[in-house]
Amino acid sequence: MPDRLQMQDPRKQHPAPPFAKQPQPAPGLTRRLTPAADHGEDSYVGTGKLEGRKALITGGDSGIGRAVAIAYAREGADVAISYLPEEQPDADEVIALVEQAGRKAVAIPGDVADESHSRQLPKRAAFELGGLDILVVNAGHQKSFSCFDDVTSTDFDTTMRTNLYALFWTTQEAAKLMPPGASIITTSSVQAYDPSTTILHYATTKAGIVAFTKALASELIKKGIRINSVAPGPIWTPLNPSGGSSQEKVENFGGGSAFGRPGQPVELAPVYVLLASQEGSYITGEIYGITGGAGIA
Ligand code: NAD
Ligand code: MG
Repeated sequence: MPDRLQMQDPRKQHPAPPFAKQPQPAPGLTRRLTPAADHGEDSYVGTGKLEGRKALITGGDSGIGRAVAIAYAREGADVAISYLPEEQPDADEVIALVEQAGRKAVAIPGDVADESHSRQLPKRAAFELGGLDILVVNAGHQKSFSCFDDVTSTDFDTTMRTNLYALFWTTQEAAKLMPPGASIITTSSVQAYDPSTTILHYATTKAGIVAFTKALASELIKKGIRINSVAPGPIWTPLNPSGGSSQEKVENFGGGSAFGRPGQPVELAPVYVLLASQEGSYITGEIYGITGGAGIA
């Protein structure tokens, strides 16, 4: 059994702050994180829960999306990932990891804030994989500001388009292609429930994702499709060092959680697997917090 799965104190299981300041340009690369993030490369063990499924994961190159891609492939799914062209080095590693698991991997670079790209994504994935059973809407943009006056219309618009419009476009097209038994998983945030002033536009989109997920659930289940959301707390990914938070916050990232440390992407993968698999057959319209004890009520 991998060390990660041995019984142990979870507070001490992964690195805790202080971390070094580590600015990098958005969207950021996971390979530049110090310490390195754990996406389950050496420790995720699949048990065939997604045998033969076809999955599309937006933002599947790094962070939470990468951990989900690795887990899905090891559970037996073929995987398409979307990401920005600047993230090709991270994407190449994920493609290799999916192929090492013996599954088909499809890379679809492009900007999800562009409507035609977002609408094409599920069609491309279904064409290349031979169907679409799982959609993970995980791509997200987060840029922090020191005060409300500094937020420009362009920043506001980019955040809305990347986090909300892309969700609408991609989900609308995917649902047309999906068979009964399929599953959609959105990625919201603890920010939907406990928003920070410095990222209020981001928090607004995350609250929108919660509402969208709950509202769509009752319609999609009429087609036998489930939709749920995962709401993470502080997770060690490129999102925060690359502009999502100030470097001062990065230095103490996750230090305020009950665990005294941030979560690692691999710690979210099992919930994405549950929600995608037939084990989640009675679960729809739910929001799963993985917040490090902050709660989402
Ligand atoms: P990440 O940077 O590794 O992943 C985000 C991905 O979004 C990027 O890899 C990128 O491929 C994609 N993306 C961003 N803008 C895009 C665009 N215009 N077009 C195409 N792709 C684009 O960081 P992550 O933390 O793994 O983020 C994944 C999700 O988790 C996001 O929705 C984020 O809001 C959410 N989340 C993260 C945290 C955290 O602390 N890291 C907390 C709560 C929620
Ligand atoms: Mg990335």
